[in-house]
Amino acid sequence: MTVNCSLNQQVLRTDASGMPMEWISYQQAVRLYHLDVVAYTCGTPLYEIHGGINAITGKRSIIEVNSIIATRGNTRALFRARQRYTPPLNNPALFKRDAHVCLYCGNRFQDKFLSRDHVTPVSLQGQDVWNNVVTACKRCNNHKAGRTPEQAGMQLLAIPFTPTHAEYVYLQGKRVLTDQMKFLLAHFPRTSPLHDRLRLEGKNSLGEPRLSI
Ligand SMILES: [Zn+2]
Repeated sequence: MTVNCSLNQQVLRTDASGMPMEWISYQQAVRLYHLDVVAYTCGTPLYEIHGGINAITGKRSIIEVNSIIATRGNTRALFRARQRYTPPLNNPALFKRDAHVCLYCGNRFQDKFLSRDHVTPVSLQGQDVWNNVVTACKRCNNHKAGRTPEQAGMQLLAIPFTPTHAEYVYLQGKRVLTDQMKFLLAHFPRTSPLHDRLRLEGKNSLGEPRLSI
C-alpha cells in the first residue's frame, strides 16, 4: 500500500450530488470501491491500496483512495432527511462550533477548561438543545450559575445556532485537509458564523486573550 498521509486520515464521503455525508476510514472507503458504489472522486489521492492478483488477467488490482469520494444512493430521500436533520449535541462539537471561545468573557481555552452553558438554565425550563447552549469557561459558567445572562449581568458575545448537516460534518472532523475544508465550506450557509470562526481558528493559537467572534 502506498500512503501519502497518516493512515488515520479520514476520507470525506458525499452523496452523488456532492452533499457532504460523513467521515470514513480508508478501510471503509476501499469497501465502497469494492461494492462499486463510488460515483466519482474529488480532492487529492491519499492511499493506493494493492489488492490480490486476478487469476484470469494476472494483474494486481490497485485502488486509489481520494480525500473526497462521492457515492451513489437515493439522493432525493437523503436530501429530504437532511433538511429536517438536527445533529446530536455533544461538547466536542459545541466547543468547535464556538471556536473554543467562552461566549461570555471572549477568552479562548483548551477543552478541559470549557463547559456547556445553558443560556436559559435547565432549572428555568431551558432546553438542552443547540439553540440554547454556548461554550463557556468554567469560571464564567460558575459565576452565571442558575441565572439567565440578563439576571447575571453577563452579555453573550454570539447567538447560539443549530449546525446544518454540512456544518456538523465539519465539526466532527478530526483532521480536515485543505481540499476537504474547501469542499465543506462551499456547503455551509452563506451566513454561517463558522466562516469567520474558521478564520479565527487559523490565525490564533489557543490562549490568546480577548477575541471577538
Ligand atoms: Zn469565560
